[in-house]
Amino acid sequence: MNEVTKILHCLPVDPLTGAISVPIYQTSTFVQEAPSVNKGFDYARSNNPTRKALEDLIADLEGGYAGFAFASGLAAIDSILKLLKTGDEILAVDDIYGGSFRLFTHVYEKLGIRIRYVDTTNLEEVYRNLTHRTRLIWLETPTNPTLKVSDIQRIAELAHQNGSLLVVDNTFASPILQKPLALGADIVVHSATKYLAGHSDVIAGLVVTASQELAEQVKFVQNASGGILAPWDSWLTIRGISTLALRVEKQCSNALKIAQFLEQHEAVEEVHYPGLKSHPSHALAQLQQKYFGGVIAFSLKEDTIQAGHELVQTTKLFKLAESLGGVKSLLCHPAQMTHKATPVEVRHKVGIKDSLIRLSVGIEHLDDLIADLKQALDQILPTTVKEPTTTFRKLARAV
Ligand SMILES: *Cc1c(COP(=O)(O)O)cnc(C)c1O
Repeated sequence: MNEVTKILHCLPVDPLTGAISVPIYQTSTFVQEAPSVNKGFDYARSNNPTRKALEDLIADLEGGYAGFAFASGLAAIDSILKLLKTGDEILAVDDIYGGSFRLFTHVYEKLGIRIRYVDTTNLEEVYRNLTHRTRLIWLETPTNPTLKVSDIQRIAELAHQNGSLLVVDNTFASPILQKPLALGADIVVHSATKYLAGHSDVIAGLVVTASQELAEQVKFVQNASGGILAPWDSWLTIRGISTLALRVEKQCSNALKIAQFLEQHEAVEEVHYPGLKSHPSHALAQLQQKYFGGVIAFSLKEDTIQAGHELVQTTKLFKLAESLGGVKSLLCHPAQMTHKATPVEVRHKVGIKDSLIRLSVGIEHLDDLIADLKQALDQILPTTVKEPTTTFRKLARAV
């Protein structure tokens, strides 16, 4: 069955009333006929019918055994880390999402879990950094913001030969582009805040496990720690997922054209997008992903913080904000925003130049998006007479 059809039809019609939209069960507890005799629900931290509909939906979409919904992407990630014990090691992709880095390094390292950050596009490096203590390999592919692509299937093989589990943070790709469990991963995690919910209106996280055994462990942590997703937010996420396939297709087709436009603009130095032939992992991305994604990063010929700063303030449709995956286009300047706290040498080492801009492409009409970027980029061309900068304009107004 086609994905679009499947998504819409794996949502159950409410057995009680026939409601075609999943009802929001805003309840904390469920009346029991006799002690421990119930309809599968007893207390809403442990289980809730609205949350369960979302959990079943994501398990279906990722092709896993069971799904679990959490209050944020990081709460979902945290639930996986709680499967570890002191002395265990994680081998993680080096340009990992900043929030995951913070959680790994500043919360779990002090509990005696060691994290080795490795360039996972290099399989030799992965192999060399595995030890008998490596419990998890933690991948993101494509990564944020430079869109490096790692080989899920080959890394799953390395993980399993070593007795480790492979976790893939599938936030950037979404299950429309890639299904890590089918490629051998053991656990998939999502910040559903991004593509899955898709409308920049909810914070949510999801976990899907390949096996029953891992499902039981995650279920235990979900109930024991209690970082669950509320019924209303579960409903919003289900509603978002209903249009996931359509949104992602449009975002990806817009993004490819925008990446090609950027590549030939005089003000642009380098474009990172797996759909471009110039991308180092273009061939792998073609094999591993259905499309190339809705996120693009690019640097400017004038590689300064100031140039990046000016550019992000001159677009009109691309709004300046952190986050990604929503229907409206966003842009951000990692050096001043998401990676501000990263030491400059580290930032440069992972390829985040001073002028690097990250775009999250939305579902607007392609022509409007390109026109917006063109007018912004034309303004920073050294040959043109520059418009006064925003700061200058503000000052001019102040005096
Ligand atoms: C945003 C994000 C997260 C964290 O998710 P929240 O919903 O913000 O907690 C984790 N991983 C990736 C790749 C992300 O982009």
